[in-house]
Amino acid sequence: MGRLDLPDKLRDEDDFIVEVGKIITTDQEIVFEPEAQTTADDLERMVAVWQERMHLTHWTIEFDWITPAEEQNHAEVSRNNPYDSARLRFNAGYSEWSRFFANHTVVHELMHLVTRDLEEAANALEDHVPAKVHALFDAHVTYELEGVVDRTAQIIVELAGPV
Ligand SMILES: [Zn+2]
Repeated sequence: MGRLDLPDKLRDEDDFIVEVGKIITTDQEIVFEPEAQTTADDLERMVAVWQERMHLTHWTIEFDWITPAEEQNHAEVSRNNPYDSARLRFNAGYSEWSRFFANHTVVHELMHLVTRDLEEAANALEDHVPAKVHALFDAHVTYELEGVVDRTAQIIVELAGPV
C-alpha cells in the first residue's frame, strides 16, 4: 500500500491499520487518580456499554491484555478492513485512570471505528494522485481526524456521563 510512516500511524499486518491514540486532555480533566483502580474488567465493561450506545454492535472487538499499548499512548486500536473487527490495547498504567478518563479513552478508540470508512475514502486517492500529494493529504486527514475524534469523545462522555 506504500503508506507513509507517520508518527500517529504504525503499520501492522497488511489488512490492519494500527492507530495510536494520543489523548488531548483539557486542563480540568483529571487523568490519574492513584486510588482509582480501573481494572481490565472495568474497561471491558465500558467498551461493551459504549459499543451499544454508539451503535457499533456489528463490530467484533477483542482485547489484547498481553501486549500493552506503547508507553506514550493511552490506548491503541487495530481495525480490520473491510471486516468490522478490531483489537484494543491499553497502556499498562490504566489502573490509575480516573473513571472519566477511562471512559474518554474507550470512547476515543471506538470513535476510530466510526471514522474508519471516512479514512478509507481518503486512502482511495492513493493510487490516483502523486505520492507526495497523497502523503500530504493523508497526514492532514490523520491529524485533523485525531482532533475531531478526541473532542467528540470528550463531548459524548460529558453529555452521556461515564459508565
Ligand atoms: Zn486516536
